[in-house]
Amino acid sequence: MKKYSLRTKLSLSYIALVLISVLLISVTTNLLLDKHFRDYIAENQARKNREIAFQVQQQYKEGGYWDTEAIGHICINALSQGMIIKVVNASGQVVWDARQHDNARCEAMLDQIARNMSSRYPNWEGTYVENAFPLVHEEGPVGEVIIGYYGPYFFNDADLAFINNINRLLIGIGVFSLILSVFFGTVMAERLSTPIARVITTAQMIARGYYDDRVTETSSTKEIAQLTETVNHLAETLEKQERLRKRLTADVAHELRTPLATLQSHMEAMIDGIWQPDTERLKSCHDEIMRISRLVGDLEKLAKYEGENLVLTKTTFDVAELIRHIIQNFEKDFAEKNIRLQFTGEPELITADKDKISQVMVNLLSNALKYTPPGGSVQVAVQGTAQVTEISVKDTGTGIAPDDLPYIFERFYRADKSRNRLTGGAGIGLTITKAIVDAHNGTIQVHSRVNEGTEFIVSLPKQPG
Ligand code: ADP
Repeated sequence: MKKYSLRTKLSLSYIALVLISVLLISVTTNLLLDKHFRDYIAENQARKNREIAFQVQQQYKEGGYWDTEAIGHICINALSQGMIIKVVNASGQVVWDARQHDNARCEAMLDQIARNMSSRYPNWEGTYVENAFPLVHEEGPVGEVIIGYYGPYFFNDADLAFINNINRLLIGIGVFSLILSVFFGTVMAERLSTPIARVITTAQMIARGYYDDRVTETSSTKEIAQLTETVNHLAETLEKQERLRKRLTADVAHELRTPLATLQSHMEAMIDGIWQPDTERLKSCHDEIMRISRLVGDLEKLAKYEGENLVLTKTTFDVAELIRHIIQNFEKDFAEKNIRLQFTGEPELITADKDKISQVMVNLLSNALKYTPPGGSVQVAVQGTAQVTEISVKDTGTGIAPDDLPYIFERFYRADKSRNRLTGGAGIGLTITKAIVDAHNGTIQVHSRVNEGTEFIVSLPKQPG
């Protein structure tokens, strides 16, 4: 399919609109004009006829005498307006006859009218008509005036000039509107196409991998503003994804390097006979292997939960009961670390994936256990409102620094790397937690103060989307 630029399309549609409007106006004007003008001319002709008859009648003087000079004036004047006049007295004798007076002029005038009319109406079939009007004086009928003209109507030069003027005006308006439409079409197209062109360039740059490119032009057109916003948002998301992808690779390499290096040096020492492969050393190697294997397990879990289609098997169950059950499994660990673990909450039914919500609770509770020093306490609460079910896990642990807070849900992010290496966390527990909550169309919030504690609040909608 042939493609046209926005400018061409807009200009063409503006021109088409103007042409159609001007054409419609011209046609209706001409139709109306024809109809009303014809009536007007015919009426005007009848009025003129009466006037001429009256004026001629005035020229009859007492004693059967006609003021032929005045009649001549009236008739010559009428001739210039397209009327051929003949005046006869009561006995039928000619008092004044335009044809006798100047037949050539009469013919020329009739010719001129015929030309005028057929120039405007090629099918005009006007006929020469003669109307007789009786002339009456106090004494009684004194004669008659016969007015001949093209009937039922004709246009003289002035009438035709009037019609032509209107048409010329319409053509003028048409041309002016055309110029305006091309101008506005171009201006509008320019205003629309410039930001679109910028969006296209940005999208092309993104396609080539330059994710930091952004559309900075603003547009007052709603759709274009939305398009710009969407492309910028897309670029931002891709940039973030790209950053995460790079970091993931770097992090995995980093996570693997330490245990592999330890393993390598231990093995080499044993092969070279520097170290005896005793139980303790083998156990140390085994620990490193376990660390690698845990990391691989975490990666697998991450792939599963962060996959595009995290499949949820939803059932309706009492979340308070589920949490109570999970807490029972943790009680021993908490008691061993001397941390108080409390639960408050009424039975609360939710429709969700039970296994995955368990995973969320396990992750939040293990973090609370990991990051709360002995002597502290952890409070778990379930609360239901009309719209959401809120689960909160609040500890009196180490807290998270404000600088770290925005990143804790990202893969492999660990606020305190050295301590976490000891605790064994790879920094993906919260990533998985968030992925599960997101899949349920819920939200997860975190409030934390360093050395005071941390609270995670999971909100799950009652009406799953
Ligand atoms: P990890 O396996 O390291 O615990 P997570 O994804 O579960 O990974 O947590 C990411 C980071 O967030 C942790 O390394 C820790 O620094 C911080 N964090 C998570 N939960 C808590 C908490 N309850 N108290 C303090 N810090 C926490």
